[in-house]
Amino acid sequence: MSQVEDVVAREIADLQPLFDDLEVERFFVHVHAARADLPETLVAGVHGDAPGFALLGRHQIHLVLDVIARTGATMKGVIRHELVHELLDQYCGQDGRYLPRWFHEGLAQTLAGDTYLGASEEDLVWRVSAGSLRSIDVLDRSFPSATTQRRTAYSHSFSYVSWLVREYGLPALLRVARYTDSSTTFARALVAHAERSTLELEDRWRDYLLHGSGARWRSLFSNWFSLLLILALPVLVLALRRRLDSEVRAARRLAQRAAQDRRAAEAREAELRARAGGGDRGLEEEADDAPLR
Ligand SMILES: [Zn+2]
Repeated sequence: MSQVEDVVAREIADLQPLFDDLEVERFFVHVHAARADLPETLVAGVHGDAPGFALLGRHQIHLVLDVIARTGATMKGVIRHELVHELLDQYCGQDGRYLPRWFHEGLAQTLAGDTYLGASEEDLVWRVSAGSLRSIDVLDRSFPSATTQRRTAYSHSFSYVSWLVREYGLPALLRVARYTDSSTTFARALVAHAERSTLELEDRWRDYLLHGSGARWRSLFSNWFSLLLILALPVLVLALRRRLDSEVRAARRLAQRAAQDRRAAEAREAELRARAGGGDRGLEEEADDAPLR
């Protein structure tokens, strides 16, 4: 338990300057041995593979040790991720509840330097290339619960927020977060700051993802074995056909050889029979005499 306290203390000290040296209000970190120990009401809506979660507005962080171990997440990464949720919520005060979930998840992953559910930019490359990734605005309305869609939502949030931080800087984004309230959405505050429409911003991000982030190459290399197999398939089929053909030819040759041998043996037998006068007896005598010579 003291290990958790140490990591929390260290990571708060590291994150505070990023949030304008925010004076952190009291909050609670609950450590659970197993997800099965948690009451159903508490984990309702929390994905089964989530190693931790924060209850915004209630100043609670929950860490789930068996999920951390099972998913291979690091204690530091999980604590830092959940701390970002808590600090961002405190930083925006009462209006923190108007921040979109994608911004929360994107910033938590960006500042933790780690993603949730194995999310990665490489997952997005094919979807963006195929034009099947919907606007980030969709995640604002509902964050998916099914594993594959949720992983994509985490990847999308992470990649877009990382790009925004790179493009406009963290202080500007936190100002945008603070401008967000019941009458001004985060998207509108961002458009006002960036002086670009949401459409333009997302186009620029997609362009960066495909051509500037290196994700396309990483994705290509991570799939190189499958690609090589696909490329090599016609060659493998040809080689297999050649091998099958040569085996059929060899079998045919063996059958011909066996037939020739059989015919030769029959001919020899007939010749011997003719030389012995045609009787079986002679053959027997010859055979009986053989050992005495
Ligand atoms: Zn999160």
